Amino acid sequence: MKFEDLGLMPELLQAVADAGYSAPTPIQAQSIPIILAGKDILGGAQTGTGKTASFTLPMLQRIARHANTSSSPARHPVRALILAPTRELAMQVFENVKTYSKHLPLRSTCLYGGVDIKPQIAEMMQGREIIVATPGRLLDHVQQKTVSFNAVEFLILDEADRMLDMGFIPDIKRILALLPKERQSLLFSATFSEEIRKLADTMLKSPQLIEV
Ligand code: AMP
Repeated sequence: MKFEDLGLMPELLQAVADAGYSAPTPIQAQSIPIILAGKDILGGAQTGTGKTASFTLPMLQRIARHANTSSSPARHPVRALILAPTRELAMQVFENVKTYSKHLPLRSTCLYGGVDIKPQIAEMMQGREIIVATPGRLLDHVQQKTVSFNAVEFLILDEADRMLDMGFIPDIKRILALLPKERQSLLFSATFSEEIRKLADTMLKSPQLIEV
């Protein structure tokens, strides 16, 4: 299996080549065509499997379909939201987003707590299509009205089991309630408890199951 066989656009194939990857990992080979087809996914995968690229690459392509090159912030509403349980993980996912989007006209940022919110607000004022965030800080931005979810069409929940362990499920539910119903959603978790399955039921539409 080659990256070229998965249906990825040239800008993403170039980014993958720049990263030095020679072939997709099993979860990438499975997930990428399904996500490109617009389907929801319930994915069981540990870190180290290439999971982050498996959702980031096709998400970028879905969002890039109607990328806006205008410099007006109002023309760059949030289109994709990636939630991660910790600042470290959010930063790691954000690094992936930057790496794979480098040939696309998409802007991204990372919002996490424990730091001054003002620089994050300044970035949001400039318009960012892709947000990687921890749930608590994202809700702080919601409260301050520095993010709007009206144009969100893509949601990714990474490491859902850790979100649960850290007590973030109420925050996740508050965020879900604010998102447009018409969207594509992916949920990744290393383990599947009854609570994760319930969350998946409320968040995903007819998801494809992927396990690696
Ligand atoms: P992850 O499971 O997303 O944390 O990724 C683990 C590591 O694998 C990261 O350092 C990625 O840069 C790297 N990686 C992801 N996809 C590939 C690939 N297809 N070939 C080689 N390395 C990869």
